[in-house]
Amino acid sequence: MTEEWKYKGPIFDAHTHIGEPETIDKMLRIEDKFGVATQIGIVHSKDGFEYAREKYPERFVFAKYLSLRDIAHYNVEPVIDDISKTKDEGYSLAKTWFGPRWRDYIEDVPSDFRIDSPKLDPVFQALEDCELPLLIHVADPDTYFQLHYQDASKYGTKEDNLSQIEGVLERHTRLLFQIPHFGAQSEIHRLANLSSWLDRFSNIILDTASSRWMARELSKDVVKAKKFLLKYTERILFGTDLSAHRGEMEYFGARYLAQRLLWETDVQDEPLPFEDEDTKDSGGTFINGLDLPLSVLRKLYWENAARVYRP
Ligand SMILES: [Zn+2]
Repeated sequence: MTEEWKYKGPIFDAHTHIGEPETIDKMLRIEDKFGVATQIGIVHSKDGFEYAREKYPERFVFAKYLSLRDIAHYNVEPVIDDISKTKDEGYSLAKTWFGPRWRDYIEDVPSDFRIDSPKLDPVFQALEDCELPLLIHVADPDTYFQLHYQDASKYGTKEDNLSQIEGVLERHTRLLFQIPHFGAQSEIHRLANLSSWLDRFSNIILDTASSRWMARELSKDVVKAKKFLLKYTERILFGTDLSAHRGEMEYFGARYLAQRLLWETDVQDEPLPFEDEDTKDSGGTFINGLDLPLSVLRKLYWENAARVYRP
C-alpha cells in the first residue's frame, strides 16, 4: 500500500512496542502491507522478545526498558548492573519513560525527584560506557497538561518536565539520546526551543512517534513546521508508537495514513483519519500536509534510522 505515495521505499519505524509472542506475527503482517521493513521494538515481554529474536532476527532493533521503580528511588546499582548486560542479551538500546503520569504508578517517589539529579549520573554514565543509545520519553503533549496534568504540584509544569531532560543533556554530551515524540515539542510555539536543543546538543535525535500528536500540532503552521523539517533533516526518524497488541488493520492503517498525509502531501484541512481524544470536544484535528521533498522523505523514513541503528 505504498504505491500511491511520493516515497515508495522501505520504512524503518523507529518507535514500536512489542508484547506477548502471539501478537507479533499479526503486527508484522500488517506492517509489511504498509512498507515497514525494519523497526525498533521496545520490549514489554520477555517471551515476546525471545520469540521475535528467534523468528525475525533481521527485522528488529530491540530496546530494553530500564527499571523505572529503581530509577525513581535513585536505586542506581541494579540499573547499572542491568545496563552492563543489556547488549549481551540482544538489545541495541535502552528505554526510559517519564510521561508525567509515571508518578501515579510508582509508590513513595522522593518528593524532590528529578531526572537530572546528580544521583542518576551513574546510570547515564553506564549507558555511555556501554555505548547504548537511550530512548527517553519526557513530558507529554500540551493538551495532556491542560486535560490531565492540572495538578502541577504532582506532575510539574511542562516547562519543568522539559528542563529536567535539558539538565541531563547538558551533562551527558556523548550519550546518544533518541527523544521521542519530537522531543515532546511538536507544538509550533515550542519549535524554537527544540531547535536550540538540536543546535546545542549534537548527540540527540528525534522521532515522530504519535501520528496524532505530530499531525495535530505540525499542521497548525505548515511554513514553520516545514522549515524545521528541512533544517534538521538528518536528525528526525519516522516512528509510530504502534503496539503489537493493538494489531488491527484499521488501527495501524489510520496512523500510517495520518503521517504520510502530513509528510508527503499538500492536503489542507484533511480530518485526522481517526478520532483525536484530545480535540474531539473542541473542533477536531485536521491535517495540513508539509509536502516534503523526496530526498528528505528518504532520510525520514529510512536513512537516518539505518545510519544510527544498522550502520
Ligand atoms: Zn512509545
